[in-house]
Amino acid sequence: MDKIIKKVNNDERLIIENRRHIHQNPELSFKEFKTMEYICSQLDNIGVHYESRIAGTGVLVQVDGEKESNEHKTLLIRADMDALPIQEVSDKQYISQNDGVMHACGHDAHTAVLLETCRVLNEFRDDFSGTVKLIFQPGEETRGGAKPMIDSGILENPNVDACIALHMDPDIQAGKIRVKPGSLYASPDDFYIKVIGRGGHGAEPHRCIDPIAISAEIICALMNIVSREVNPFDEAVVSIGSIHSGTATNIIPDEVQITGTARSLTNDVRALLKKRIGEISHGICAAHGAKCEYEFSELFPPLINDSALSERFYRTACRAIGEENCIYGGSATMAGEDFSYFSQVRPSLLFKLGCRNEKLGIVSPIHQNTFDIDESSLKIGAILFSEFALEFLN
Ligand SMILES: [Zn+2]
Ligand SMILES: [Zn+2]
Repeated sequence: MDKIIKKVNNDERLIIENRRHIHQNPELSFKEFKTMEYICSQLDNIGVHYESRIAGTGVLVQVDGEKESNEHKTLLIRADMDALPIQEVSDKQYISQNDGVMHACGHDAHTAVLLETCRVLNEFRDDFSGTVKLIFQPGEETRGGAKPMIDSGILENPNVDACIALHMDPDIQAGKIRVKPGSLYASPDDFYIKVIGRGGHGAEPHRCIDPIAISAEIICALMNIVSREVNPFDEAVVSIGSIHSGTATNIIPDEVQITGTARSLTNDVRALLKKRIGEISHGICAAHGAKCEYEFSELFPPLINDSALSERFYRTACRAIGEENCIYGGSATMAGEDFSYFSQVRPSLLFKLGCRNEKLGIVSPIHQNTFDIDESSLKIGAILFSEFALEFLN
């Protein structure tokens, strides 16, 4: 344990340099071409075996342990690498050089941490048996690069036994981490409803089927799903994001378009939302003689941390950085995270890495144009990934 901490502390300047380089050169989802090239050049320096251009710009590194053992286990560690369409506001030297694009979700940090983890595990190959697969994943912020990477076969040959990842968290002080077993991120799904009535003169509603009045009923009824149909001990959100219809005060339009987001933390509640939003919309339309079109667009499944893996990781973290710096439990978020695809098929854990520092003025939430991190958190990420890999494989 001591030698990993020593090695990462020695490498700290390099980790920060990597993070700043990536931060200055952010690229949008599935366009991470230069980021991929940079990662590959760093991996060449380290001297590890890798495969690039997976699912477009993804990179898979494989490090095989050289310690003798009868058992062969494989751990996968994932970092995402895409940025957001945001204009950065900062007086730091390492401000984004790519106008209108910014690493406002900390994926630059995730990438730098994983590069260091490659370096450490490659150096300490003699200290573990089995295999570590380290992946740099594109496109987390849009439709998700996790699924296409999984579909390309990265969980096979050798078969992956468990997956881990981290996310920067500006609500947690730098130096601390948080591990939460069970649901951590929601399924951020979208829905689209079209109410098709029959338009006409606003003075003659009896000759029309008014889609606006019908939509008002639908919206009120959808608000009851969470309060009346979801178990009070489960979390869910149904929000309407847009309503479009009409052209004038005295014309009843033909149709109304409604869009919204439906979020939940379990597969069961997700299925309930999908079914009931559709049934309620169709039912209210039918009651008024209108037609209904309904589409539920599934983005990511909920991210559910494996309980046993969470506890195991937490114990390793307590040993490495002290129990006083490790928070266990806490609440989930209704945002989405496509690491969830890993959690659906293998025992998985995503932990939160604190990066807040009020003294340095680093307090902005993710996805804000002033987001930044306390870079002292980077080495903690690399130490914990590396320590846990050794613990898991031995
Ligand atoms: Zn994000
Ligand atoms: Zn993110």
